[in-house]
Amino acid sequence: MTLDRFPRVTLGNWPTPLEEAPRLSEALGTTVLLKRDDLNGLGVGGNKLRKLEFSLGQALADGADTVITFGALQTNHGRQTAAACAKLGLRCELVLTAKVPRDGEAYERSGNIILDHLFGANVHRCTDAEETAATYERLVAEAAAEGRKVATLPVGGSDAVGLLGYVAAAEEIRRQLTGPARILVPQGSGGTAAGLALGWDGRLDVACVGHDTAESAETLGSLVADGAKHLGIEPPSLDHVRITDRTLGPGYGVPTDAVWEALRLFGRTEGVVLDPVYTGKAAAALIAEPRPEEGPVVFWHTGGLPGVFGYGPEALAAFS
Ligand SMILES: *Cc1c(COP(=O)(O)O)cnc(C)c1O
Repeated sequence: MTLDRFPRVTLGNWPTPLEEAPRLSEALGTTVLLKRDDLNGLGVGGNKLRKLEFSLGQALADGADTVITFGALQTNHGRQTAAACAKLGLRCELVLTAKVPRDGEAYERSGNIILDHLFGANVHRCTDAEETAATYERLVAEAAAEGRKVATLPVGGSDAVGLLGYVAAAEEIRRQLTGPARILVPQGSGGTAAGLALGWDGRLDVACVGHDTAESAETLGSLVADGAKHLGIEPPSLDHVRITDRTLGPGYGVPTDAVWEALRLFGRTEGVVLDPVYTGKAAAALIAEPRPEEGPVVFWHTGGLPGVFGYGPEALAAFS
């Protein structure tokens, strides 16, 4: 599948490493490979950079000078968008909504929030969906009044353009693997899993972090359909995709004991830092169902390191 016709701007270091994890593999009784998208560079890295290469490539092609996007207070997508905008000289407006049942000094003033400000984004904190919508409209009107051209990116950068980053990633890992493997990835807004579902025809395991299996499957299906249309191909069957919500817990942004246990295991066997919102839930799903009979598993590390500090007091209690 050639992606050459889509505008793209380079933001990360590619390919990201595919690493062996012998001590983790031994602990789980199954061979685990780590796909290190947490190490792709810009702005402390993470999975959103792959999407932003296409989303911001399109924004630049459209002549945009202002980017507006959305997320929770500790959004990794917002932080990576802010870093990419800094690098590209674009104005970045982050409209953040308090949608996770967490507050306090660490959640509200540490982690990703510090980096959003470091990268020069304008941060707008909203208490609910209504204030979020009103803030967005005000920012669009202000940009119009000043003659600026806005590109709006959805939550998580998950749309038919952004997901192309993970169609490209599927090709990247095909070149790195020397034999069959299954891939395990977390699903939040869905663009990562959808891009992989389009580009990768081996087994794809998806761990829900924000919605239950039924809702996540619906989001995935519609993103895959949009992506296929954008690519000009028939939407593939999703028989190769298996979705689980067994480690979702009470909801988005709420880590469970199994999540903290997963962070400890990866940290203490491999010195790898997972995050409490996304990769920790996917790793908990791996621990719950290692499935050695299915051969090696690629654990796709999508980043999120600053989230550890956003959940600082809880993290310290869980680790010490
Ligand atoms: C956004 C994010 C995800 C989820 O990716 P989606 O494309 O939104 O499903 C996974 N891990 C981390 C660290 C993220 O920031």
